[in-house]
Amino acid sequence: MSSQIPVKQIDPNPDAANNNNKPETVELYASRKKIYVKEVKGLFQRLRFFSLWGLMGMYFLFCWITVNGQPLIHFDLPAREFHLFGVTFFPQDFFLLSGMLIIAAFGLFFITTLFGRVWCGYTCPQTVWTFIFMWVEERIEGSRNKRMKLDKAPHSAEKLVKKSLKHTAWLTIALATGLTFVGYFYPIRELAIDLIAFDANGWAYFWVIFFTAATYLNAGWMREQVCLYMCPYARFQSVMFDADTRVVSYDPNRGEPRGGRKKSASKDDLGLGDCIDCGLCVQVCPTGIDIRDGLQYECIGCALCIDACDSVMDKMDYPRGLIRYTTENELEGMTSKLMRPRTFGYGAALGLMIGAIVFTLTTRVSAELDVLRDRGALFNYNGRGMVENSYTLKVSNLSEIPQTYRVSVSGLETLTLTSRTDVSVASGEHLSLPAVVEVDPEKMTDSNNTITFRLQSLTDATVTVETESRFVGPRD
Ligand code: SF4
Ligand code: SF4
Repeated sequence: MSSQIPVKQIDPNPDAANNNNKPETVELYASRKKIYVKEVKGLFQRLRFFSLWGLMGMYFLFCWITVNGQPLIHFDLPAREFHLFGVTFFPQDFFLLSGMLIIAAFGLFFITTLFGRVWCGYTCPQTVWTFIFMWVEERIEGSRNKRMKLDKAPHSAEKLVKKSLKHTAWLTIALATGLTFVGYFYPIRELAIDLIAFDANGWAYFWVIFFTAATYLNAGWMREQVCLYMCPYARFQSVMFDADTRVVSYDPNRGEPRGGRKKSASKDDLGLGDCIDCGLCVQVCPTGIDIRDGLQYECIGCALCIDACDSVMDKMDYPRGLIRYTTENELEGMTSKLMRPRTFGYGAALGLMIGAIVFTLTTRVSAELDVLRDRGALFNYNGRGMVENSYTLKVSNLSEIPQTYRVSVSGLETLTLTSRTDVSVASGEHLSLPAVVEVDPEKMTDSNNTITFRLQSLTDATVTVETESRFVGPRD
């Protein structure tokens, strides 16, 4: 993997007359060279097309879909509820969300050890939006050569129209992106109306503008700079690579020595390899690198260079795959192993985490019952001569629908709940319910007894929660 500090070229034999013993300066900052990416077609671009447009479609659609009256994905911060694919998570489920993030991280590590940066090339939001913005740019300004010519051309009406159209289209996509993002936190159907009527929360305006600007700048202007200089994953993903990781690579054994030739010429007679040095793989690269220089941290694994080179190989009647997904071991003539200790390690950690989360989710009870004893009095006698204890029951409905619960109590002979037993609780509501329990003092064998409160849903018979508490009476 190469990483160079670009330096200003220094004349190794400076002219003595011009030297004057002035200190030499080395420029550590290289200004950005705009990359004009050439559009290419091929198998991997078709895969990316479906993956990137599919992900984009999901992003724009999911906030509009509702399941059982609840949004498919909605982060309701004021109510402290997260709705994810029909399951509602509350603050007490935070460990489940953390577990899901850990699964996502281990999933990424696992895939990276096997196939390198497929996440970056096919699914990363930066790649998705840059791909869409570049697609729009190509439709409005034309091919790579036309775009280069347009940028160099003096100001004209045509240039103004094309540039205005492009930036308007970019801003429209960016605004839709910002609105949709905020729509995952603010009911999307109300958001647009509230924004237009200037009735929305001030933060809603702020975040819509923020995400619109971030999308426009990241996907329209910064593009590969985000991958090269801002993305932390680009920096540490190489530690997950080994000689068996399948990445986009140029085969120097087949390609070198490179050189131009006519299609009719015999490469063997010319003493050349398969690379015709056409530079197409560099022209299509969104990060502007030459894959023939070997594995580089700038490579996002988009496989555009594979499709470009395959098209050249087809034209030359050479076999495809001069640039292909392969491993370092295979390039050196050895065989590669799919499963290695590190893939087993990541795979095992991933499997364990998925198992733990699935078990927790499937055994998760959608109700909670907390019992607090009344601290005012240990006990008292009521008008019927019974010993009474008072409690506050905290009933939480953690399901996606309203529930009616029945509360009962057991653990002592003649133990009776004399307060309200049935209660309706809205989804996500935490309700405080005063409870009074009485016992015939003749039946009490001890002054301090364990009793059990039971919460049974009348809406869903499978939901039952039990919580123990104490019942205190007089000493013998
Ligand atoms: S070298 Fe460039 S075109 Fe090829 S996979 Fe890497 S980023 Fe994509
Ligand atoms: S596209 Fe293929 S043939 Fe052309 S320069 Fe790149 S590696 Fe060589």
